[in-house]
Amino acid sequence: MPTHVVILGCGFGGLFAARALAGAPVRVTVVDRTNHHLFQPLLYQVATASLSAPAVAAPIRHILAGQGNATVIYGEAARIDTARRAVVLDGGDEIAYDRLIVATGAANNYFGNDAWAAHAPSLKTLEDAYEIRSRVLLAFEQAEREADAGGRAALLTFVVIGAGATGVELAGAFAEIARHTLHGEFRRIDPRNARVVLVEGGERVLPTYPPDLSERARRQLERLGVTVWLGRRVTGIDAEGVQMGSDRLAAKTVVWAAGIAASPLGAALGVPLDASGRVLVGEDLSLPGHPEVMVIGDLAALPWHSPPVPGTAPAAKQMGRLAALNILNDLIEGERKAFKYKDVGMLATIGHNSAVAVLGRLHLSGYPAWLLWLLAHIFFLIGFRNRIMVLIDWAWAYWTFQRNARIVLQSRRGI
Ligand SMILES: Cc1cc2nc3c(=O)[nH]c(=O)nc-3n(C[C@H](O)[C@H](O)[C@H](O)COP(=O)(O)OP(=O)(O)OC[C@H]3O[C@@H](n4cnc5c(N)ncnc54)[C@H](O)[C@@H]3O)c2cc1C
Repeated sequence: MPTHVVILGCGFGGLFAARALAGAPVRVTVVDRTNHHLFQPLLYQVATASLSAPAVAAPIRHILAGQGNATVIYGEAARIDTARRAVVLDGGDEIAYDRLIVATGAANNYFGNDAWAAHAPSLKTLEDAYEIRSRVLLAFEQAEREADAGGRAALLTFVVIGAGATGVELAGAFAEIARHTLHGEFRRIDPRNARVVLVEGGERVLPTYPPDLSERARRQLERLGVTVWLGRRVTGIDAEGVQMGSDRLAAKTVVWAAGIAASPLGAALGVPLDASGRVLVGEDLSLPGHPEVMVIGDLAALPWHSPPVPGTAPAAKQMGRLAALNILNDLIEGERKAFKYKDVGMLATIGHNSAVAVLGRLHLSGYPAWLLWLLAHIFFLIGFRNRIMVLIDWAWAYWTFQRNARIVLQSRRGI
């Protein structure tokens, strides 16, 4: 029997590992709890009504249809029994493995305040994106009917907590929806009066970027009409707004973009984890004492790597490829290779013609960074059809400021 490689999770890490095993003399089983591979870097565009779900996601089964040695299982891995080399799925089914790649990514983190999640959704899945999109668009609808000025102001206040790349992208897009997309469509309210507030506990936006680009990003956000509050720690979130120490901001729409934690499956491996719950792996990405199990992507912690490896799609893809290569090396009794992250830069978009980019020592902002962001995302999107769909939607949006995905599949929500 050929070696059986089981891959848990078909995000960037899992998919690139599976693809790197195409044509190899191994059996590959890919398990994911969704039926699609999701291009998370463009998820905020679904949440802000620019793109629809099929533009940023593709069925895993379809992506791997041409890979004869790969089988796709739709299911959630509930447990890993490293002693018996078996994965236990939800419902109790078991899959035995010779080699296991765990690539189940990250989950949202409210730092122990899980009750906040009901009032401030995070952005991680397509369901999250639809929820945020509904809340934003329906807040304007409710404001149009609200007679009380205070109530209207709260409905027209949108708060994004956390000024990393996702928070910056969401805040910029909310401001564009208010200033441009909805302009002229309402009779009782003027959407341009909406307030978008980006709240960050640290002292700058995009804290992982060089300080000059953080500053340029802040200025671009403010030009778009976003109010940026730095050095403010959120101490409470409820249905009526956000508490920051003794300050209160009345807001009906709040989005949490302030933290992620590792997938809980890491803890199921019974090995040491770092403070974020990520699994500490060796240089070949395997578990200490278990060379047959590798952990990659957002779930892996590589404290021995300098500089630190970012929690990004390129890092997950590179780990996926190396994990596959090391499995193939095992088959020919070759030496395993150590992981070395190849820096490909960082990009964050803020709005129309505005973005920031780091490419080695080159720091870009404004239109050149935005163009680079656009080309990179089209290039890296999975699937030719998706690229065409996204290009058409973006071209339309660029000239008209319109957003094509504004249909909310929900009847009146507690108005
Ligand atoms: C909103 C957002 C925007 C981002 N923007 C960027 C960006 O612009 N650039 C960039 O480089 N990175 C970006 N990232 C980060 C990037 O997406 C991640 O670093 C990358 O996806 C990590 O890849 P992964 O394979 O480890 O996990 P993921 O891509 O998250 O994949 C994990 C997979 O595992 C599956 N899964 C989880 N648990 C289970 C289970 N128990 N059983 C079965 N399947 C399971 C999930 O369904 C998913 O398909 C962004 C992330 C988010 C959330």
